[in-house]
Amino acid sequence: MKSKGRYGQFGGFYVPEVLIPALEDIEAGFDKYHKDPAFVAELDELYRTYAGRPTPLYHAKRFSEHVGYQVYVKREDLLHGGAHKVNNALGQALLAKYMGKKKLIAETGAGQHGLATAMIGALFGMETKIFMGSVDVARQNVNVHKMQLCGAEVISVSGGTCTLKDAINDALRYWTSHVEDTFYLFGTAGGPHPFPTIVRHFQSPIGTEARAQCLETVGRLPDKVVACVGGGSNAIGIFSGFLDDTEVELVGVEGGGQGLDTDHHCATLVKGSVGVLHGAQTLVLQDENGQIHETECISAGLDYPGVGPEHAHLKETGRAKYFAVSDEQVLDVFELFTRSEGIIPALESSHALAHLVSLKGTLDKDAVVVVNLSGRGDKDVSIVEQRRSATENTFSYSI
Ligand SMILES: *Cc1c(COP(=O)(O)O)cnc(C)c1O
Repeated sequence: MKSKGRYGQFGGFYVPEVLIPALEDIEAGFDKYHKDPAFVAELDELYRTYAGRPTPLYHAKRFSEHVGYQVYVKREDLLHGGAHKVNNALGQALLAKYMGKKKLIAETGAGQHGLATAMIGALFGMETKIFMGSVDVARQNVNVHKMQLCGAEVISVSGGTCTLKDAINDALRYWTSHVEDTFYLFGTAGGPHPFPTIVRHFQSPIGTEARAQCLETVGRLPDKVVACVGGGSNAIGIFSGFLDDTEVELVGVEGGGQGLDTDHHCATLVKGSVGVLHGAQTLVLQDENGQIHETECISAGLDYPGVGPEHAHLKETGRAKYFAVSDEQVLDVFELFTRSEGIIPALESSHALAHLVSLKGTLDKDAVVVVNLSGRGDKDVSIVEQRRSATENTFSYSI
C-alpha cells in the first residue's frame, strides 16, 4: 500500500486508516476520468473560456537587458484569480463533480488556494468550506471576504501556530467524517498519494504550452526553466513539460527569508531533512526530534515547512536544482521587474525572478531562460510598502 505514489523514497500515503478508502476513491476517479473524452473536453473548455488558457509566453526585453540574457515569461499571472491555482481547482472540482461529490473542502494559507476553490465552488454550485488558520484569517482579510462573497464558508482554525499546517490537519480531520459526499481539493503538489500526481496533472498545461511556445517563438528549447517552490505545484506544472528534455536545466527557487542560517526561512528543499508531513514522506523543516519548524518568509504563499515529494526526488536524483533567495533580493526584483516591464509579479513568483538576477553575468547573451510567473502581485503591494518603510531601504537599481 505504502509503495503507491512513490517518487524514489518519497511520497506514499501515511494517513489514518479511515482516510485510505477516500484516497483510493479519488485515485480510482482520477484514473477513470482524467483521459475520458467528455471530461477532457469539458476541462479544456473551462481552461479556455473561464480561466484564460493558453497563457502567453512573453519576451521580457528590458528585464533581459538587465540580466544579460534572454528571459521569456510564462504569464500564469493573467489567469482568472491572478495565479496558477485556478488550473488545479478547476481540474479537481470537475473530477469531484464527475465522481458525484456534492461538497468541496480545502485548506488555505495566504488565501489564494481558498479563493480559487471558492470561485470554482460558486461556478459549479457546490457547497464549499475553507479551512484557514486564525492567524491567516486576520492577516489575509481581503481574501476571506472574497471567499465569502463566492458563497464559501471560511472556518477559522485555532490549533498549533494557527497557520497553514494546522488548517491542513483540521481539513483532513473533518474529511474523515464526511468522505461520503465531500471532496478534499488539495492545494499543492504535496500531501498523500494521489494528490501529488493529480495536482501535477492539472498544472501540466503550463509546461506543455511553454515548451511548444518556446519552440515556436525562439526556435529551440530553453537552456533553463525556473519556477518558485512553495508546495511545488506551479514548478512541477512547468517542469513536467521539460522533464524528458535532459538538456534543459530545471531550477526551483525557495524562500530564503532572512537568511538560511536563521530560523526565519521557508527553504525546505535546500535545508530540510527526510520526514513525514501531511501524509507523505518528503523533505521537511524539522528539528532533530521531528518537531516541525515554524517557517517565515516574505511571501505567504511559500510559507510551508514541507514540499511535494516529486521535488524531493528530483533534488535527490539531480534532475532539478533548488536554490533559496532572501527577502531582500525578492523585494529588489519585485520593483526592478515592475519598472522594467510594467508587470507587478507576485512575491512568490519574484523568488524565481530574483534567482534570474543572481545569474547575471554567468550566461551568454543568447541564452534562453523561461520563468514561470505564477501570479500577479497586486495582493502584495501594501506588504512591499510596509517592508520598505520599516527598513528605510529603498529601491537601488537604475535602469
Ligand atoms: C500559492 C502560490 C505559490 C506557491 O505554491 P506552489 O504550489 O509551490 O506553486 C506560488 N505562486 C503563487 C502566485 C501562489 O499563489
